[in-house]
Amino acid sequence: MQVPLERIVFSGEEIASRVQELGAEITRDYLDEYGPEAEAVLVNVLKGGFVFLADLVRCLEFSVVIDFLAITSYAGDGASTGGVRIMKDLTESIYRRDVLVVEDIVDTGLTLSYILRNLSSRKPRSLKVCTFLDRLSSRIVPLQVDYRCFEVGEEFVVGYGLDYGQKWRNLGYVCTLRLEEHPRSDCP
Ligand code: 5GP
Repeated sequence: MQVPLERIVFSGEEIASRVQELGAEITRDYLDEYGPEAEAVLVNVLKGGFVFLADLVRCLEFSVVIDFLAITSYAGDGASTGGVRIMKDLTESIYRRDVLVVEDIVDTGLTLSYILRNLSSRKPRSLKVCTFLDRLSSRIVPLQVDYRCFEVGEEFVVGYGLDYGQKWRNLGYVCTLRLEEHPRSDCP
């Protein structure tokens, strides 16, 4: 496998140690708030979030239930309306449960704001957000991110679940690629 690597942004070691730290913080918060019976439904947004989810859950020391949501943007809709549709819905009910959305990256916030609106209409007891990467400088929709591993700059990144044209999700680190075209126009 020839990776057209430009720069490693976060190494595997950095990621592992930060995920462990964040897992401990989330564990503390949920146990403080809900006691030893704490249970969260982790809603993972496919596909980019699956690697982060797999590592994060093993650092959480309270009950968790995992569920998946797949969404897609649809063409012909303006950004302001958040042209997003659910392609695969949850299998679990989240009514009166404590939900933690696990995302790969929050960029403009349009995708996540749609997801949060949709999930909150199902009346969970609590609804929090945990993202692997946060690109605060690109935010269009203001929203609260409760937990983040790292803040990331403008550059398009791949690896650790994040893709370019469905590739490079299997890299154990986050990097930028040497590319002819700027890939941000390729984002869903
Ligand atoms: P938002 O709706 O917040 O603008 O977009 C979030 C989605 O855009 C992410 O879930 C991800 O699929 C994609 N995305 C945004 N920035 C990047 C990036 O730097 N790398 C990759 N691989 N995907 C990105």
